[in-house]
Amino acid sequence: MKRSFMRSFIRRYKFVLLFWACLFLAAAIMLSRHNGSMPRNSVTNSSGTDSATRSNAKAPPKMEPLPAPSQSDKAAEEADVANAITSADVHYLASRNLLIPVQGVAASQLRDTFNQARSEARRHDAIDISAPQGTPVLAASDGSVIKLFQSDKGGVTLYELDPSSRYVYYYAHLMRYADGIAEGTQLRRGDVIAYVGDTGNAGAGNYHLHFAISKPISPHGWSGGNPINPYPLLMRK
Ligand SMILES: [Zn+2]
Repeated sequence: MKRSFMRSFIRRYKFVLLFWACLFLAAAIMLSRHNGSMPRNSVTNSSGTDSATRSNAKAPPKMEPLPAPSQSDKAAEEADVANAITSADVHYLASRNLLIPVQGVAASQLRDTFNQARSEARRHDAIDISAPQGTPVLAASDGSVIKLFQSDKGGVTLYELDPSSRYVYYYAHLMRYADGIAEGTQLRRGDVIAYVGDTGNAGAGNYHLHFAISKPISPHGWSGGNPINPYPLLMRK
């Protein structure tokens, strides 16, 4: 009696039963897939930095992530990129019509030593303009004296800020400053600002002006920044 009831029940509802069986099977498959992926994702998401070492051995091999740069490296790199020398910089500086900053020196006498090696794996990043001791040093451009500074390498030095506040002209190995030159002095292109000397690491008797142009990282900064070769800018006339 009971068995015949079951048999007739199955016969009557076999499609409904089949439907539920399929539904159950599909749910079981989805659940197992979901569980399988969860642990790996949660580990990579929570650790962030060393996912490759923490994920379990069954996970497919992953590329070892590059070490994350430190905050200071990153900031310096970003500043450097933001501060990279572009054709717009060169175009602007060319429009300044820079003066050869040593009195009586012609363009044909200039030598491009910008890329020359210097001590301690440094690059020159400047040009040297030879001239007799005491020859007037001239402002290459309008601007203002942003810093008067004495250093071991540069000796007596002067930093001039361009009117755009984006570029600094650097004059080094000076014998002395011209009268009236002080920090904040406004300069006109061609003003006498100092005299050629051999101070700093120029070498005794090696009288020359070390002249550099840079794009400092911070506006109104005077030291550091990306160097720009003055040679082609001074050769334009
Ligand atoms: Zn030099």
